[in-house]
Amino acid sequence: MKVHEYQAKDLLRAAGVAVPAGVVATTPDQAAEAYDSLGGGLIVVKAQVHAGGRGKGIAIGPDDDRAEALEIASGRKPRRDGMARGVQLVRSSDEAKAAAAGLLGKTLVTYQTGSEGQLIRKVLVTVGHDIARELYLGMAVDRGRQCPVLMASTEGGVEIETVAHTSPEKIHKEPIDVGVGLADFQARKVSHALGLKGESVKKGEALFKAFVKFFLDKDASLAEINPLIVTDTGEVLALDAKLNFDDNALFRHKDVAAQLDPDEEDPNELRAAKSGLSYVSLDGDIACLVNGAGLAMSTMDLIKYHGGEPANFLDVGGGANKDQVLEAFRILLGTKNVKAVLVNIFGGIMKCDTIASALLAAYDEIDFNVPLVVRLEGTNVEAGKKLLAESGRKITTADGLTDAAQKVVAAAKGVK
Ligand code: ADP
Ligand code: MG
Repeated sequence: MKVHEYQAKDLLRAAGVAVPAGVVATTPDQAAEAYDSLGGGLIVVKAQVHAGGRGKGIAIGPDDDRAEALEIASGRKPRRDGMARGVQLVRSSDEAKAAAAGLLGKTLVTYQTGSEGQLIRKVLVTVGHDIARELYLGMAVDRGRQCPVLMASTEGGVEIETVAHTSPEKIHKEPIDVGVGLADFQARKVSHALGLKGESVKKGEALFKAFVKFFLDKDASLAEINPLIVTDTGEVLALDAKLNFDDNALFRHKDVAAQLDPDEEDPNELRAAKSGLSYVSLDGDIACLVNGAGLAMSTMDLIKYHGGEPANFLDVGGGANKDQVLEAFRILLGTKNVKAVLVNIFGGIMKCDTIASALLAAYDEIDFNVPLVVRLEGTNVEAGKKLLAESGRKITTADGLTDAAQKVVAAAKGVK
């Protein structure tokens, strides 16, 4: 699960990480009020979307050229007049209002969103700081080392992916013992690697420790502070924050789970989760309904192997009752681009004839406008197949995974 920058900062602030004061606004007037409530002076208005690169990103309206916006947001083309960036510095409440008006309701295109962009529903109005240095601080689970790793770099503010690619030696890494957190000697090493001096050393080390503790305590899967800044007066502050959390651990972090923004989630994924279905949207045109995550993965592999592209990952779990199958079909058929559906079910605990009946009942309740290929295997498979074959519905049955994949790929391509 991802959260917005303002939510990430609230969570980090509560955990003892120094962040600038800020207020969320959903209207230009609220942004003007927020400007005053923050004491005026240099204030920053920031688009809140689940993507990075906002500073260079471009906010566009429905009639603007998306492809051009992406070129500009990726630094390949210069900006024209009248185009608004996703992060704007303002110096009066009128400017704050105008900046918010130029962002709210617009679509922000950044190098991370692609030309699709993301709708801006909120802005963060936050205190602007004079930046002496822009640093990077991140935390992720390192599969190679089999532990979380704290990453720090003096190359902050810019795309850290580029730094990792072109000069990986500029990223200092500290493996974290999950039972200990960030040890004192490690905090000192990070502080040294970042070149912190004087008062900033103590402030930085306190921040690193709080950041690592937060990551571990909240079962985060990725955390980034980019930039982490040092101000002219030696303050060390998280100016931007991105957090991802492990969905499987959300049940024990109600404060984090409460931050879920349904507007930012895939509506089909939310709907599937409500029915206990594991669903992930993909870009292809062959919808899959499968029981068991492993079977779902191999089904997708086979579709690709035979030249097709899966439209989704969908695991209906071991049970696969009629209601679940019905809801699954509704979600699949409601997805744009779907040209064919493949049902691949292994009847283990659940018998194949029971599954076939559920499929038929669901089929009759839904207006099936694309070809349906079904592959059943397991207990009572013959009875199940017979039910489908004799049902009189337009269902193609398949024998084995290869046959199923070949048939559904052909069906999606319109081959009879
Ligand atoms: P993104 O990573 O999505 O581009 P950031 O929050 O990192 O968004 O903002 C981009 C840049 O804007 C920062 O690198 C920094 O230079 C500037 N900036 C952001 N917030 C502030 C702030 N509160 N005060 C001063 N400058 C800021
Ligand atoms: Mg940033």
